[in-house]
Amino acid sequence: MDHIFPRADGVLIGGVKLDGDWRRELDPAISADIIRRTSTIESGIAEAKVRGEFPGLRPGRAQVRLELEQRPSPSGPAVIHNYGHGSVGYTLSWGCAEEVAALAREFV
Ligand SMILES: Cc1cc2nc3c(=O)[nH]c(=O)nc-3n(C[C@H](O)[C@H](O)[C@H](O)COP(=O)(O)OP(=O)(O)OC[C@H]3O[C@@H](n4cnc5c(N)ncnc54)[C@H](O)[C@@H]3O)c2cc1C
Repeated sequence: MDHIFPRADGVLIGGVKLDGDWRRELDPAISADIIRRTSTIESGIAEAKVRGEFPGLRPGRAQVRLELEQRPSPSGPAVIHNYGHGSVGYTLSWGCAEEVAALAREFV
């Protein structure tokens, strides 16, 4: 999971994959380990100023839920569910958006 992304406002480094861990608090041991691991790739990271940290959650399901539901069924307003993409939400976003738009068009 090691990654180093240069960005306009700094460098983003990470990360970890911990199944079933939904903590939103920072874990200093994990932060230190990310810096240690990425420093073996780019030594300057060890000396760099930390400008911010965040825990990133990747809620996923065995299969993405993408469906239209009418609440109350069968004649109520539509809710289109589109979630559970885990760690591939960007990758799937265009295809899922097209499916959502098609469901919405069909409904109206
Ligand atoms: C560390 C990390 C790395 C990742 N790397 C990749 C990758 O390399 N490739 C990839 O394909 N995917 C990656 N993902 C997954 C990807 O980020 C997600 O799958 C994707 O962002 C999900 O999109 P979304 O629009 O469903 O949810 P989000 O991107 O979470 O968007 C939900 C939005 O709703 C807003 N919101 C929440 N509650 C409310 C409320 N009550 N009222 C108003 N607004 C609200 C939030 O602020 C947020 O802007 C990564 C995720 C993480 C955490």
